[in-house]
Amino acid sequence: MQNTTAQKSTAPHTSARLRATVRVPMHLNSGASVTAELHTFAGLSDPGEHIALTLGERNRTSEQVPLVRLHSECLTGDVLGSARCDCGPQLQEATRQIDAEGGCLLYLRQEGRGIGLYNKLDAYVLQDRGFDTYAANEELNLDPDARNYRVAAEMLTLLGFTSIRLLTNNPEKAKQLAQYGIDVVAVVPTGVFVTEDNRYYLETKARVTRHTLALSGI
Ligand SMILES: [Zn+2]
Repeated sequence: MQNTTAQKSTAPHTSARLRATVRVPMHLNSGASVTAELHTFAGLSDPGEHIALTLGERNRTSEQVPLVRLHSECLTGDVLGSARCDCGPQLQEATRQIDAEGGCLLYLRQEGRGIGLYNKLDAYVLQDRGFDTYAANEELNLDPDARNYRVAAEMLTLLGFTSIRLLTNNPEKAKQLAQYGIDVVAVVPTGVFVTEDNRYYLETKARVTRHTLALSGI
């Protein structure tokens, strides 16, 4: 996937377009119900089946800048409820918050920070032998974070979200979106969902990639 992205990044993606929009009622873990407009795309700069969910437009006043979250796919956390990371609770919280304020959630098919599910699980094996989440990828000769957010900027541009408040603790996301032409007018921190099982993972994210996580006292 990295090679594909590198090859294609040399050419502008003027062919990118919205493919379809469909209404999806959703039941959140909190018991709340929301309705999303789910969008698919064609001609994006990477071939993943990325989707966008617009939420809560009825709740947004005209002067309010939309709230946007870039969520990278995590099958184990999002679907299976794995407590090795905090992706599942973060996805639920972001969905609820964006519905309340109005905006867009991008669900990016970047499993395992872009290395894929099986490689992520191989990295888990190494983490259980003492490697941290980034060192494990390096031991497998994989990029510690292979994600590129150009495709996210393309999706946001197609949906008209070119001036946004970004829901994230990851400074790299705001930096890359700005590079790709999105006006990030504010960064809104996400909740931190610490458990005994993911504490080391979160501490490593804060230390290695400067995620702004308030982990003191845990
Ligand atoms: Zn995860």
